[in-house]
Amino acid sequence: MTQHDKIGPERGGYRCIATEEGFTIPEIVEASQKLFAAEPERFASTIKATQTFPMEAHLAWREQLLDLGQGRIAQMDAHGVDTQVLLLSYSGVQCFEPRQGLELARLANDRLSEAMRRHPGRLAGLATAPPQDPDAAAQEIERAVRDLGLKGALINSHTNGEYLDLPKYRPIFEVLNKLGVPLYLHPREPSPVLIEGYLPYGLEGPVWGYGAEVAIHALRLIFSGLFDDFPNLRIVIGHGGEGIPPMLFRIDHRSAMEGQHTRGRRLRRKPSEYFKANFAVTSSGNNWPPLLELCREVVGIDNLMFAIDHPFEDNAQALAQVAEVSFTAEDKQKFFQTNAERIFRLD
Ligand code: MN
Repeated sequence: MTQHDKIGPERGGYRCIATEEGFTIPEIVEASQKLFAAEPERFASTIKATQTFPMEAHLAWREQLLDLGQGRIAQMDAHGVDTQVLLLSYSGVQCFEPRQGLELARLANDRLSEAMRRHPGRLAGLATAPPQDPDAAAQEIERAVRDLGLKGALINSHTNGEYLDLPKYRPIFEVLNKLGVPLYLHPREPSPVLIEGYLPYGLEGPVWGYGAEVAIHALRLIFSGLFDDFPNLRIVIGHGGEGIPPMLFRIDHRSAMEGQHTRGRRLRRKPSEYFKANFAVTSSGNNWPPLLELCREVVGIDNLMFAIDHPFEDNAQALAQVAEVSFTAEDKQKFFQTNAERIFRLD
């Protein structure tokens, strides 16, 4: 029996859904390369963050990201993955001028919905949208979810150094709330005011910077009081919770002691209560049994979903690692299948 036999659909009697899997389209690859080449100074830290990986890896990843067809399905079959929830790979559309960002987002969303129609039940995906024009982003999310059948929205953390708790971004949360779909808050390198300390040792990428960037973004959303205005809003974060779950006690403890939660608005609940009510955590790139077991304890099994982070992680390795998690059969079904079906409203 291989490791996969323990967890796949025929194996455990449930569907294996991987919830943070990457794709891209050629137009976005080309437009990003053109933009970065034209303005190397402005995009220095984005370019640097990608240089923490060797070029051969980038080229192999790109080929897999561009495949929305048989190659991808064959790879899923080989590893016992029934369904991928797809996210447009970073750098996405947030680096472009608003108009070009919107055009590229529409193209990516259209292609994704075509792939979903070609492979029903196997591929699902989230809408990308340009937060640099919040009204246009909200409209595109609505089109992509209502007309194209996408399952939520994706934003790669900061946009030009700004975070989504600022009032100008409210239209994005209003539309997500109205549609009842989640926002996947995915990493990128830390914002320009935070990145300096990371650069000397290449820590701005997945080693630390990506997770720290999403963590500060998530905490800003919580401490801004966003979830008092939108109590049903759901934010999904990957990589085992981007460092937040093991810190929940301390965040509650010190914010109560120091009154930090009153600097902006007085919050109705403890930070950890918003984290449990308004967030979900995926295991992308971090299928580490001790962490997932801690997440079950402190975040709850109903808020925990499986992900690989294809193609940036090795599918076989991730599945072998997660097979060692000491979840009950009931917990495994929630983790691999039913939480994702509920949160992303999958068919
Ligand atoms: Mn990822």
